[in-house]
Amino acid sequence: VEADRVRFNPKSIDVIKLTKAILEPIRESISLFSNIIFITEKETFVTNVDEFLLSTILTNLLTNAVKYSKANKDIIVKIEFEEENVLFKIIDQGIGIPKAEQKNLFQSFYRASNVGDISGTGLGLTIVQDFVDIHQGSISFKSEVDKGTTFIVKIPIIR
Ligand code: ATP
Ligand code: MG
Repeated sequence: VEADRVRFNPKSIDVIKLTKAILEPIRESISLFSNIIFITEKETFVTNVDEFLLSTILTNLLTNAVKYSKANKDIIVKIEFEEENVLFKIIDQGIGIPKAEQKNLFQSFYRASNVGDISGTGLGLTIVQDFVDIHQGSISFKSEVDKGTTFIVKIPIIR
């Protein structure tokens, strides 16, 4: 994606409500034996973000968590707050990403060697990175093969 071609249209958005709205249909669609657990310290939190771009970020990370999870393992979505940032944490107990390949993850079309027959194009995280950058935020992750992966997106709070 060429970031300068994406329309950035920030508005006051309740990011808790938005996250719930994204999570619910995905929760409905997954196995009865696993769940998406939503953890938040606040009932509501309004900040200036682009609704479409943030929705795309969360949808991509959450569908990755589901897709690369193991059977019967829960996923946790957590919203935390720092003085100047809101943090979205997506925590899975899935296949993980091999250490040696972690540096390649945000490259277009890159897919790790342990994906097996799980399908994908390798573009989701490239888009996520661009949309986080547009918000002047940051993204990081930690991952261990066969244990799971945690992605953390930090978005600056703008009131
Ligand atoms: P798509 O373009 O449909 O999203 P994709 O899921 O393969 O395809 P990305 O979302 O960009 O592409 O992810 C790139 C690669 O990073 C994946 O192919 C996978 O190897 C690895 N990956 C991403 N998220 C996770 C995760 N939660 N657990 C394990 N591996 C992951
Ligand atoms: Mg993906």
